[in-house]
Amino acid sequence: MGTPIFVAQYVLPQIEGTVVLDLGCGDGLYGCLMRTCWWQTISGSQEPDFIQTLNPKQQDPDYIVGVEIDDTVIQKPKEHKIYDELIMSSAHKLPFKDNTFDTILCIEVIEHTQKNISCKVLAELDRCARTRIILTTPYRVRSGFLPPEELTTLHALASSHKSQISLKELRSRNYHILTPPGGKHPLRMIRRFLERKYLKYRYNEIVAVKKLYKDPAKFNYVEKDIKNILQCPSCKFNLHFSVDGGEEKGYCKNCKAIFHKKMQVWDFRTENYKF
Ligand SMILES: [Zn+2]
Repeated sequence: MGTPIFVAQYVLPQIEGTVVLDLGCGDGLYGCLMRTCWWQTISGSQEPDFIQTLNPKQQDPDYIVGVEIDDTVIQKPKEHKIYDELIMSSAHKLPFKDNTFDTILCIEVIEHTQKNISCKVLAELDRCARTRIILTTPYRVRSGFLPPEELTTLHALASSHKSQISLKELRSRNYHILTPPGGKHPLRMIRRFLERKYLKYRYNEIVAVKKLYKDPAKFNYVEKDIKNILQCPSCKFNLHFSVDGGEEKGYCKNCKAIFHKKMQVWDFRTENYKF
């Protein structure tokens, strides 16, 4: 996958709340970071007094769901039980009810989708998140700026990338850009100029955060039963669940689609997903 690790220092301190979706979780890097570095997140860092430090709930996320479409990479996170739930699904048709997750991470995902699909992914993030969306994607790089040893390994130049989102587009969708640093303070402008001109290769990643201001009365309360937050990804109807021959199934009464839970993972992949 090659997700750059250096963006984690920007991503973790932005995570708010305790119910988190890691969209495009891959081999579980961010799930693992949330489990081990929860104190670096907003919710994990809130001044624990002595009594609270004895309560492990204060130091752990309540519920982390991982979504991945590629079944070849989910073995590790499954084996190590990094996520409370793992779901196989397309990013642009998520099987979750509205306003389910406090924060959604979308790390190095949208560049792997065609432009028309990436717009749908962004809409799904807006629909399913309650308070925050944290998105990272490669910044357009000119290969001339890069040291040759980075050219072959850099995620920003991966051949599986299909589209690119601009800073302007992200800003128009109310995302705040953390890298490169924004703002009009003169020192920042000088820094940005230098970075763009000479140090561009150091910022080949965009980290963007969108704060949502939704009515908490509309939030879906998440119990630790995945069935409470699932819905048909196509028609948004609640699913009816049954167990058949030891295998769990979710059935949509509207479109008649059946989704299976195999080996502890729900499979919501409905389209040709191979890259
Ligand atoms: Zn349906």
